[in-house]
Amino acid sequence: MMQTRVLISAVVLAGVAVAGCLSEQDTGGGSGAGGSNVSGSGGTSNGGAGGDGGMSGGSGGETGGTGGSTGGAGGATGGTGGATGGTGGATGGTGGATGGAGGATGGTGGATGGTGGSTGGDPEIVTVGDKTRYLLRGTVVTPDTYFVGEVLTESNVITCVAASCSGEPGAAGATVIDTHGMIFPGMIDTHNHIFYDIFDEDDWTPKQKYQNHNQWTQEPEYKAMQDCLDWMLASTTGSPPGPNLDCEILKYGEIKALISGTTSVLGEPKGSPMKCYASLARSIDGRFNDLPDTQRLGPCLYPGQPFTQAPPDNDHIQVSTLGIGSVNPSDALTNFQNCKTWSYVVHVAEGLQSNTSAYKEWTDTKTAQLDVQQMTIIHGTALQQADFQHMADKGMKLVWSPKSNDFLYGFTTRIDLAKQVTPKLTIALGPDWSLGGSVNLLDELNFAWQYDQTHWGGVLTAKDLVLMVTIDAAKAIEVQDQLGSLEVGKLADLMVVSGDANAPYDTLVHARPASVRLVMVNGAVLYGDAFLSEAASLSECEAMDICGTSRFLCVKEQSTADKLNQTYAAIETAISEALQTYDTANGTHYAPIAPLVTCP
Ligand SMILES: [Zn+2]
Repeated sequence: MMQTRVLISAVVLAGVAVAGCLSEQDTGGGSGAGGSNVSGSGGTSNGGAGGDGGMSGGSGGETGGTGGSTGGAGGATGGTGGATGGTGGATGGTGGATGGAGGATGGTGGATGGTGGSTGGDPEIVTVGDKTRYLLRGTVVTPDTYFVGEVLTESNVITCVAASCSGEPGAAGATVIDTHGMIFPGMIDTHNHIFYDIFDEDDWTPKQKYQNHNQWTQEPEYKAMQDCLDWMLASTTGSPPGPNLDCEILKYGEIKALISGTTSVLGEPKGSPMKCYASLARSIDGRFNDLPDTQRLGPCLYPGQPFTQAPPDNDHIQVSTLGIGSVNPSDALTNFQNCKTWSYVVHVAEGLQSNTSAYKEWTDTKTAQLDVQQMTIIHGTALQQADFQHMADKGMKLVWSPKSNDFLYGFTTRIDLAKQVTPKLTIALGPDWSLGGSVNLLDELNFAWQYDQTHWGGVLTAKDLVLMVTIDAAKAIEVQDQLGSLEVGKLADLMVVSGDANAPYDTLVHARPASVRLVMVNGAVLYGDAFLSEAASLSECEAMDICGTSRFLCVKEQSTADKLNQTYAAIETAISEALQTYDTANGTHYAPIAPLVTCP
C-alpha cells in the first residue's frame, strides 16, 4: 500500500529561519579571505573557490580551487552569490561544498568563489512552486553515466531525466532548484540491523576477533546490551514495563540513513504493521515501504503472471537475521514461485574461511535448493572463488559489510575474487549496523574504498562502489524496476551532493555528510541545505546542524497514528531519556545515544 505523505504547499518552517545566520550573512561583503580549499587545486580554469565577500571569509570548497579572482559577490546573497561569481569552468562550483557554510556565517568567500562553473556552489531555489513537483538542475548521475541536465519529479515518480526537462508539461509551476551539484539516485542500504543503531562501540566492543557469528553473541557484555534493547522495545504493558520505543528507534535509524543520502534501508525484519516504519527513509523490507502495488513480471519463476495480492501486503522482501537455519525451504520456494517474495536476504557463511560452522551455512543453502536468484547472501565471508562462481551462475546476489566484518572477524568477504567471476555477480554494500560497522553508507563507501586500496591494490573502481549502493543494490533486492537509478517511471528517490562534478563517482565515495545537500524520498523533500528550506515538502521541519552545516529535516507528519506526529527532537529525547532510565535502574552506561552522524 502506498503511504501517502501530507504534502503542503504553504510552508512554514519551524525554526528554519535561522535568523542569526541570515543577519550575519547580510553583513557580508567585507574583505574575508577567499576559500581555503581542502583538496582542490582549482584555478580559474577549474572554477575558483576564492571570492572577496564575506565578513569572515568563506571556508572554501571541499574540492574547489584556489582561483576565483573574480569570485563571489559578497555575503548579501550568501551561498548564491556565485551567480555572479567565479569565471571558472564547468566544475568551478565544487568549492561550494563547504562554502555555503561560510556564507551562512557571514563569509561568502568559498560559497561564491566556488560557483564559477555551472555546477558549483551552494544549491539555490530558483522558483518556489508546487511542492509535489520538483525540477532539479545539475549534473545528473544516473548512475551508469552522467551529464549536465535536469530531473523532473511529479508526485512520487520521476517523469523526465534529460539535458532539459523545462519544456515538459509537468515542469510548469514546479518548484525549481539549481543544485549547483550532482543529482544521484537515493542510496539503498541493503543490510542494517537498524534497531541496534542507538548503540556504538562505547556500548559494546568484542573482546577478541572471532571465527563465526555464534561466538561473539555469547559475550555477557553483548547479552547485557541486548537486554537493554529488548527493554527499550518492550511494551508499556509488559512486565517489567518498557517504554515501547519501536517507532522512535526505527525512525532514529532512518534519520541516520536519510541525512547521508540513503533513501531505502533493509533493516526491519519484523514486518511491523506500524505506519511509522514508512515515514522517512523506506524500511523497504517491511510492509509500509511506499512501494506501489504493481505487477511483477520478474524475477518470478513464471514470468508474465501478474501480481494479484491485494494491498497492504506489498512486503516482497524477506530478511533472515538468524541465518539459513531459520529459513523454511519449502515455504521460501513456494513464495518465490508465486511472486510473494521477490528477494530473500539471509545471513550465510558469516565467519572465517577456515571455520567449518560458517562454511556449512553455504553448503546447507545449496542442500536446501535455495541457491536460486531470489536469494541474496549477507556476508559470505567464508566463501571462496568457486562459491562466488556458483552464486553468479545461479543469479544469486551478495551483500558486503566490510567494516562490520573487520570489527568482528578481522577479515572480510573476498570481493576481489567475487568481482572476477563471469557472469557478473551482483554485489551490494551495507553497513550491517552502527556498532562497529558504519554509521551510514557514506562511511561504508569510505571504508570499502580504503580497504580495497590497502588489501587488494584497488580492484574496485569508484564507480563499482557507487553502483553497489544504487542500481546494484536495487538489483540485489529485486527492486530495480522501482529504484536504484534516475530513470523515467522510477520512484522519486534522490539526493544532491556537492563536490567535483567532473569525477562524480570519486566524489561520492569520498563524500562526507556535509556534502549531502538535499534528499528526496518518494517525491517528498525531507532533508536538505538550509538554503533550500522553502522547498521542503512537509509543513513543519526542524533546523539542525550537521557537521557544521545548517540543514533542515522534516520528520513530523500531520497524522497522529503510530507517533507520526513526533519531531526529531522528541524522538531523540525519548530514546535518550529511556537509556538514562535503564542505566539508573541497572547500573549500566548505555546513555548517551549513539550519535546521528560522525564528522567530518
Ligand atoms: Zn547482519
